[in-house]
Amino acid sequence: MREGAIHLVVGAGLAGASAAMAMREAGFTGRIVLVGEEKQPPYDRPPLSKDVLFAPEPKLPYLHPASRYTEREIDLRTGCRVEEIDREARRVRLAGGGSFPYDRLLLATGGRARRLSVPGGESAVCLRSLDDSLRLRRLLEGAPRVAVIGAGVIGLEIASSARARGCEVVVVEALAGAMRRAFTPEIALFAESLHREHGVELYFEVGIEAIERGAHRSRIVCAGGEIIEADLVIAGVGMERSLELALAAGIECDGAILCDEFGRTRRAGRSAVEDVFAAGDVASFWSPRYGQRLMAEHWRHAQDHGAAVGRAMCGILEPYDEIPWFWTDQHGVNFQTGGMPLLSERTVLRGAAETRRFTAFHLLGDRLVGATTVNDGRNMRPALALIRAGSPVDAEALADERQSLRDILRKAG
Ligand SMILES: Cc1cc2nc3c(=O)[nH]c(=O)nc-3n(C[C@H](O)[C@H](O)[C@H](O)COP(=O)(O)OP(=O)(O)OC[C@H]3O[C@@H](n4cnc5c(N)ncnc54)[C@H](O)[C@@H]3O)c2cc1C
Repeated sequence: MREGAIHLVVGAGLAGASAAMAMREAGFTGRIVLVGEEKQPPYDRPPLSKDVLFAPEPKLPYLHPASRYTEREIDLRTGCRVEEIDREARRVRLAGGGSFPYDRLLLATGGRARRLSVPGGESAVCLRSLDDSLRLRRLLEGAPRVAVIGAGVIGLEIASSARARGCEVVVVEALAGAMRRAFTPEIALFAESLHREHGVELYFEVGIEAIERGAHRSRIVCAGGEIIEADLVIAGVGMERSLELALAAGIECDGAILCDEFGRTRRAGRSAVEDVFAAGDVASFWSPRYGQRLMAEHWRHAQDHGAAVGRAMCGILEPYDEIPWFWTDQHGVNFQTGGMPLLSERTVLRGAAETRRFTAFHLLGDRLVGATTVNDGRNMRPALALIRAGSPVDAEALADERQSLRDILRKAG
């Protein structure tokens, strides 16, 4: 058993596992304990709304083989829920008894699927965990007609997977279009037409009043009085961050755990940075680049932020300053979005939407603030570099496929 300082990570998801691995890579010689309430070792969530739902024989998406935790002397405790943090004693108390001491604590508690807050809403199936996904896979088998509430990324990925399973699919969304919190209107319209082509019925600007469960089918009662019937109702209405531990311990939160660019939290009302850190989906971190706090619910962020905060816990303080970047796969089409497209005033396309392979550059004035690639992921890294450079770019050159993005980047400095 290792001796010395103890780094305790609560939450054995991607951010927590990345942090633990990064601590060892940074040369930390003390004890690392990684505690997660789920029974499985850390796994990837992106396949849960994709392959795990529709592949004939999906692989279970574990992040690392069990041997890696042993080799790196990471004490992984699964099926173990932390109930309380005792800040004075520097200990966490576990559900069902027992406790762990810590010198430095990382909260990487992520979030859970938001439930529908309408009468009968609890009957809608949600997706966040591997168990949820395996259950949904079974349910899709006996559901000829599926209704998905919410046309965000997860809702539309589920819609696409359910179509791949041969289900009839209807999607109901309160906003005016698909993925409107992430995509600019032209990309959203492209995604909507893709879903329609694949036989998904889409209803926008429709509020839900209730879900009634009949003997055979469920009935979704819409705000206008319309009724949508389905064998299975799925809610894809976002996530809620797991803040209860932080709130009870007096750590400053505002819909997320607030932390600085190194992941350090503070006690509400105090300026001193404490020995408790936060990373991944649960955190709202200070971004020096954007001069504001940001929250992200993306795979790459959970991985990179977890690793950066893990290193910070070992004394390697490098500000986390990444540009947001996520992907989604729907009906065999890969979308990647980098930067902040919704800050843009206009979009120029490199390639034609009809070819199903193009890149959209989102501009604010003469600066690139975001990019979306559609089956064109090779352009994402240069686009991120252009966003990072923050220099003026020539919009016509961006749209001209004969000009290489690397040359444009070189000119932009
Ligand atoms: C279905 C699905 C599909 C996705 N697809 C994509 C995609 O295609 N592209 C993309 O960029 N991103 C995608 N994401 C987002 C990405 O997976 C998340 O951003 C990432 O998993 C966040 O990691 P995390 O470690 O911060 O949080 P989580 O993954 O939520 O992990 C937190 C862990 O902490 C545990 N925990 C919470 N409280 C306690 C406690 N008190 N004690 C012990 N353990 C606790 C939880 O059980 C959980 O295991 C997807 C997410 C989902 C759910």
